Amino acid sequence: MFKKILVANRGEIALRIQRACSELGVKAVMVYSEADREAKYVKLAEEAVCIGPAPSPLSYLNMPAIISAAEVTDAEAIHPGYGFLSENADFAERVEKSGFQFIGPTPDNIRMMGDKVSAKQAMIKAGVPCVPGSEGELPDNPAEIRRIAKAVGYPVIIKAAGGGGGRGMRVVHTEAALINAVQMTKAEAQAAFGNPAVYMEKFLQNPRHIEIQVLADKFKNAVYLGERDCSMQRRHQKILEEAPAPGIPRKLIEKIGERCSAACKKIGYRGAGTFEFLYENGEFYFIEMNTRVQVEHPVTELITGIDIVRTQIQVAAGEKLPFKQGDIVLRGHAIECRVNAEDPYNFVPSPGRITLWHQPGGPGVRVDSHVYNNYFVPPNYDSMIGKIIVHGDTREQALARMRTALSETVVEGIKTNIPLHRELMVNAKFMAGGTNIHYLEEWLSHHKR
Ligand code: ADP
Repeated sequence: MFKKILVANRGEIALRIQRACSELGVKAVMVYSEADREAKYVKLAEEAVCIGPAPSPLSYLNMPAIISAAEVTDAEAIHPGYGFLSENADFAERVEKSGFQFIGPTPDNIRMMGDKVSAKQAMIKAGVPCVPGSEGELPDNPAEIRRIAKAVGYPVIIKAAGGGGGRGMRVVHTEAALINAVQMTKAEAQAAFGNPAVYMEKFLQNPRHIEIQVLADKFKNAVYLGERDCSMQRRHQKILEEAPAPGIPRKLIEKIGERCSAACKKIGYRGAGTFEFLYENGEFYFIEMNTRVQVEHPVTELITGIDIVRTQIQVAAGEKLPFKQGDIVLRGHAIECRVNAEDPYNFVPSPGRITLWHQPGGPGVRVDSHVYNNYFVPPNYDSMIGKIIVHGDTREQALARMRTALSETVVEGIKTNIPLHRELMVNAKFMAGGTNIHYLEEWLSHHKR
């Protein structure tokens, strides 16, 4: 096991990794920007290094600053968390070339999955079903693009090969709008991701977003830890997640789960990863793979009893996966609400000082958050300030626990989306289970307060 790990992230995930290190008896070096001096994990840290000013390109995305921090503190490994540099293959490569272990997959695997066109091609080879669409990148020739769209069938969605975070996508309903949409997506993709390549998929009308969590070691052992339902989204951003996914036959989950772990073995994947699928009419369609720990990993931890972050560290240190597929048993139901510092209905960010923070507790309630009374939420980063996660024997019990947890939660001084979560927990459609990815936006569009 490592003696010391550098945590190259901020917010709740920095604290989550710090806690896993502490349990493993590993020292954690925390890094922070000037805007995060007062963060809880910095206060709790044995060692902390300031890596630059508030803007992320100068701090959390600043590779030389992070690698120097690892050098001066004698860390052996770097955990990238999620977001920031976590899926940057060049960073993983620089980390390893500088003599540190990157806690994640190989740079080659990150690169393969970071380009959605090559990711899909690899998945097709590995026998994972994908959304029907163009074979690879779209060509420049308009007649050829029209021919592909016709074969795929309208509506289609044009997506950036280098896209992420729900950006770089455009739905096209008619041939008349096609070429213009392709050109606009290409221009946006170039500006946002430095890669103009786009591809085409059939636009599924009413899918659910279902994802499979995997864990793998260096010895080609791989397991899947069941699924998560992340269909509650706004602008392609998840706001709450649950596991298991209501109403999907276990046989189907097992079949797709086996395909995912087989794909990991085939590509030599190591560490934690998530295969994201759209699910419609009993079929799974791969859309992308995330080669890192995800925000919503706790729902899986609660139903499996497996600590995903701890396992990431163990396999990065060269240990074997401590369990086999047959050891993984799902128990009960878990739900996670992401708490964002934002207006609950128009979603405008609401950074600032938290004058009162009271978090919920009790059986089956977990809160992953780095904030505290009088903490100042900086305006520079993502608006998520924590996650409330509950576990129950049944979905009904989990829902009841979440209602209680949300009713206990007090956040004053800034706005949060907790009122929206409170409404969703008593929403008849959500309570019935199985809403699709468009549900939240449709509901919001005729929502009255
Ligand atoms: P990102 O990397 O930006 O998150 P994804 O490829 O994972 O992009 O897609 C994000 C979301 O966009 C999905 O969860 C889904 O809501 C929507 N989406 C993506 N592809 C399709 C498709 N072919 N049909 C319908 N919706 C899609």
